[in-house]
Amino acid sequence: MPYRTCVGCKARKPVGEMVRLCLDRQNQLFISVSSSGRGVWLCKCTECFDKASGKGKIERALKVNGVSGLEKQLSSIYDRLIHLG
Ligand SMILES: [Zn+2]
Repeated sequence: MPYRTCVGCKARKPVGEMVRLCLDRQNQLFISVSSSGRGVWLCKCTECFDKASGKGKIERALKVNGVSGLEKQLSSIYDRLIHLG
């Protein structure tokens, strides 16, 4: 199984323990492991989502500028993730 680096804790983990977030053309984050384009990997844990929600962090990871509200989207994606199990 391939390993990826988490943008939250910077640890390398098997992709099975992680989620990949991509940004669509409307600057909406969505979960996709296979979508082309820029994506970031995160562990499925509160700590890493919290870290990635730090100011400007997710933007830097996605190499985008001036996209507001990504932090908020991160937390709602995490909420959904928990409810999905
Ligand atoms: Zn992590």
